[in-house]
Amino acid sequence: LIQILCAYCGKAKASTKDHVFPKSLYPASKTSSSVQRLTVPCCKECNNSWSNDEAHFRNILALAGEPNDSRNELWETKIQRSFKEKDAHRRIQDIKDACRLIEVDCKSKHMIFPGEDNRVIRIVKKIVRGLSHEHKILSAVPESHVWVDVMKYQIPEKFLEQMSYDHREPDIVEYRYSVIEEDGIQSAWFITFFERITFVGIVKLHPCE
Ligand SMILES: [Zn+2]
Repeated sequence: LIQILCAYCGKAKASTKDHVFPKSLYPASKTSSSVQRLTVPCCKECNNSWSNDEAHFRNILALAGEPNDSRNELWETKIQRSFKEKDAHRRIQDIKDACRLIEVDCKSKHMIFPGEDNRVIRIVKKIVRGLSHEHKILSAVPESHVWVDVMKYQIPEKFLEQMSYDHREPDIVEYRYSVIEEDGIQSAWFITFFERITFVGIVKLHPCE
């Protein structure tokens, strides 16, 4: 009997499946889609450890930048509903805490910085680790080996063409990756949510400082 280990910690026996891209990112219109949701084997402890942060991650992504149709549907259904649940007060407070007042052209604007939100970054790291397992690149990748930030500059098209491409519904999430194995870097990832917010992820051969 082969025992399947957790894709994230690589130690505990996998007793459940983790949705690499949180289920909560998909609006109802996507339920009949033929694009398979990506799952990896996972232990209960890892799975439970980020369930709370996944809801926050979705809310922050939904608020960052210009919305597309999938994001609008998500906002009007799942997210609005979540604001009526019993932990709504905390969820809304979390969003308020993430907002910062910024002066733009002498006007004050509320802005959100997903790259500076530890809980958002942790979920993106989890996604990179899950994808690394799924594509049989490296498993299990410890969280401490992953570096993630929001992509702030356009990536040259020539460079992107050299990377492997995949998606789980392009208007929800698409990603590119490349195995590097040089200069302490194991692999590089670009993950774009709702066609507008891109994270860059680096899996290092050694723990981050
Ligand atoms: Zn685990």
